[in-house]
Amino acid sequence: MLHRVDGDLYMEQVSLTEIAEQHGTPTYIYSETAIRSAYEAFDSAFATHPHTVCYAVKACSNISILQLLAELGAGFDIVSGGELTRVLRAGGEARRVVFSGVGKQNWEIEYALTSGIGCLNIESASELQRVASIAAAKQLRAPVSVRVNPDVDPKTHPYIATGLKENKFGVSATEALAMYQQAAKDPWLDIVGIDCHIGSQITELEPFLDALRKLLELCDELESQGIEINHLDLGGGLGVRYRDEEPLDTESFAAAITQSMSGRPQSLLFEPGRIIVANAGLLLTRVNTLKSNEDRNFAVIDAAMNDLIRPALYGAWQEVTPVHEHDQDRKSWDIVGPVCETGDFLAKDREICLEENDLLAILSAGAYGFVMSSNYNSRGRAAEILVTGSEHRCIRRRETIEDQLALESLRRQ
Ligand SMILES: *Cc1c(COP(=O)(O)O)cnc(C)c1O
Repeated sequence: MLHRVDGDLYMEQVSLTEIAEQHGTPTYIYSETAIRSAYEAFDSAFATHPHTVCYAVKACSNISILQLLAELGAGFDIVSGGELTRVLRAGGEARRVVFSGVGKQNWEIEYALTSGIGCLNIESASELQRVASIAAAKQLRAPVSVRVNPDVDPKTHPYIATGLKENKFGVSATEALAMYQQAAKDPWLDIVGIDCHIGSQITELEPFLDALRKLLELCDELESQGIEINHLDLGGGLGVRYRDEEPLDTESFAAAITQSMSGRPQSLLFEPGRIIVANAGLLLTRVNTLKSNEDRNFAVIDAAMNDLIRPALYGAWQEVTPVHEHDQDRKSWDIVGPVCETGDFLAKDREICLEENDLLAILSAGAYGFVMSSNYNSRGRAAEILVTGSEHRCIRRRETIEDQLALESLRRQ
């Protein structure tokens, strides 16, 4: 959806220079067409097997994006009560929502049940008990699934591997079995599925197939004990290309999964976040100051680690490209923010041609970008813009200092 016209960068039919002039920088910009096609590609790859695609809200949770996905027929995977409110506000249906997370609070469980949530993905025996007693108190049956930690290595960054024994997520298959037996006896619990989520930015098929095998073994064991399972939820975690990664081909991923499911009555559920939005978004920023020392050239931009923390947090690499191409000499630049931390860099050693006041686009910023931003250094969070063909709409205005101060008060007047 990104292309150049006379050296100027466009998202769909909208000039990024125009957006910068109209809305300022730093600004997140998303392509509706890119989100739509990523969702449709994933959804249609599973056309041969009953399935639900529950978009992982935490990847990019602006209500316009959620509204678009709800219109496309997506369900949602949430990890907090706040995300449930977003989904409902955006027109999503609670019964198509699954609720994941190791530390659901009582109010969140209550809120999910009274909203008519599709499934609570239970991550511990203690949580199962808690859900049962809240359901009993509310006289509402709780649809549940147990999150199994399949102990498979997703071969990704350690911070985003979640399906290894040493991770805090889910329970072992043995413990899950005991939890299902417990749940089966409880009149307020309604067993609907089994789930797992093994990590993020995964580019290999084997970990997913291993996880599915574990889920199917447990499913067979449960059925032999008369406990029926309606859906198998494989979580999200599919990787995208930021630089030279070779992401899984959706069609072959789907073919392998549906083949393992052939002859099985259970439907499939997925919780993809990153592959739906990562490459549909970018962060538009302006170069503030250029400075060099004997060793390095620094381009200080108006975006910082508070706007996009992936490089600082995971050492993530994202492409940086000038919005207007110059043809002067290229130099190697470290692209850094104005925040007082050496970890405040967006990119290092980029061979580009730069001048002060130039606009830059930091690509592949649609997932885990804006949602992880903060007010560190009292910086207002960026604006968000959704581009649709030749139109663009501000879907979140830039935060002002008054927005921040509105939540604070002086100790005395
Ligand atoms: C984060 C998360 C996802 C989405 O992961 P992606 O890598 O963005 O696809 C799905 N399910 C759960 C439980 C998660 O925590």
